[in-house]
Amino acid sequence: MCLGLEGTAHSFGAGVVTDDGKVLSNVWDMLSPREGGIHPREASRHHAELGPSIVKQAIEKAGVQPQDVDLIAFSRGPGLGPCLRVTATIARTLSLHLGVPLVGVNHCVAHVEIGCLESGFQDPVTVYVSGGNTQIIAFAGQRFRTFGETLDIAIGNMLDTLGREIGMRFPAGPTIEREARRGERYYQLPYSVKGMDLSYSGMLTAAKRLYQEGIPIPDICHSVQETAFGMLAEIAERAIAHTKKRELLLTGGVARNNRLTEILKGVAQRHSARFHRVSPPLAGDQGAMIAWTGILQFKAGDHLQVPESHVLPKWRTDEQDIIWRRG
Ligand code: AMP
Ligand code: MG
Repeated sequence: MCLGLEGTAHSFGAGVVTDDGKVLSNVWDMLSPREGGIHPREASRHHAELGPSIVKQAIEKAGVQPQDVDLIAFSRGPGLGPCLRVTATIARTLSLHLGVPLVGVNHCVAHVEIGCLESGFQDPVTVYVSGGNTQIIAFAGQRFRTFGETLDIAIGNMLDTLGREIGMRFPAGPTIEREARRGERYYQLPYSVKGMDLSYSGMLTAAKRLYQEGIPIPDICHSVQETAFGMLAEIAERAIAHTKKRELLLTGGVARNNRLTEILKGVAQRHSARFHRVSPPLAGDQGAMIAWTGILQFKAGDHLQVPESHVLPKWRTDEQDIIWRRG
């Protein structure tokens, strides 16, 4: 049984998972600033203040005792340094206190693995879209390769920043989705796919300009969604065509978006691939995905000693050997 801690950005989460893949509990809390973006120091303070009680709730909700936990896993990176350090400190303390091993998990890899657990997929192309990340990931040569990613801001960040400029509260993604349904006209926005990578900052600037010009908000939201999701679909489609994989997985906070889901479902259908959207409780940042990936890693022989358990804020998805999967 593994207790997993997630704390790479604005959310702190703790989840308890068994080694046959049962999620016994998954508790989290997200810092949502009234105005402005996330400040790393404020987010880390949030984790330090709420972390211990979230861990306690996760253990209670799982219906177990702290001594029943066999393994502690934590999100080692990538993420905001102060947040990662608070989370790692809680994880190390628990590992030492309970006398159980410690595993450091890559946050992006965990998003893929929990999606595979939920869907039963063996080897998907994954579209991982959230506030801080936009990546198209697929397994090749013993690593999760980032086939494509944003060259500047993440799609969720683009939506939230645009939302803030046009008077929406954080997180703006759901509001933009709702407004977009009433949109009637499509306004051209920069569509920037560069090879397998994409860029959202030009679109953000152009969308803000539409707002200043008095274009109705529903039309802006509709245009932003169609352009931003179209870019993702193009790269996902190319990744499927290249890798010949037969599964397409959509995960991350932005996976909640029904229009994006519909577009990617179409991509999967055209390539006779199965499609799965990870359910909201497992799609966002939470501890169960860290716990489950920690179990996979530990069973394959990977764990950390406390003195070498420093965090890795810039840890890339493809920098970790995936020793628990066959190539
Ligand atoms: P995460 O970073 O995984 O916690 O996800 C949070 C991000 O998901 C924020 O940027 C939200 O704006 C975004 N989000 C949540 N729901 C939706 C939605 N229905 N459509 C688009 N984006 C969404
Ligand atoms: Mg995430």
